[in-house]
Amino acid sequence: MLKYDSYDIVLQEIPNEISLCFTITGCQLACDGCHSEHLWNLKNGKRLSPDMFEKLLLKYCETITCVIFMGGEWCSADLLILLALAKKRFLKVALYTGLNEKQMQRKYPDLLANLDFIKTGKWISGLGGLGSSKTNQVLRNLKSGEILNKYFHH
Ligand code: SF4
Repeated sequence: MLKYDSYDIVLQEIPNEISLCFTITGCQLACDGCHSEHLWNLKNGKRLSPDMFEKLLLKYCETITCVIFMGGEWCSADLLILLALAKKRFLKVALYTGLNEKQMQRKYPDLLANLDFIKTGKWISGLGGLGSSKTNQVLRNLKSGEILNKYFHH
């Protein structure tokens, strides 16, 4: 069951998109230096049911262009249902995951085939996030193949 810790409208996580962003609980990666250890426990959070998700899409569909899931690949069947609901409303869909793209291809090919954007790579504090030139993390437009990290370099 997909459970979320919070949701918000965000402007920067996917360049040129206004996104409804859900933070999903149950992350199994346990990155050293994780900024959000409360997200590890599946018991935390509230259920993100298809009904509730649709209500939020209806509420925000005039404002948003994209939906982002911060995690949730571990409930891929449930996540695929939500991706389909968002796409029915012509919204783009994105996943932020600590897995790399090869791991996603092996473990969750159906998710990869249904996403418009993916940010991959676990958090490694010495390398930094998307704004760092040393980062291991990659934000990619899966439709065009373009790597979008450059939008985070200031
Ligand atoms: S993927 Fe994100 S939430 Fe999960 S352990 Fe790593 S930093 Fe924490």
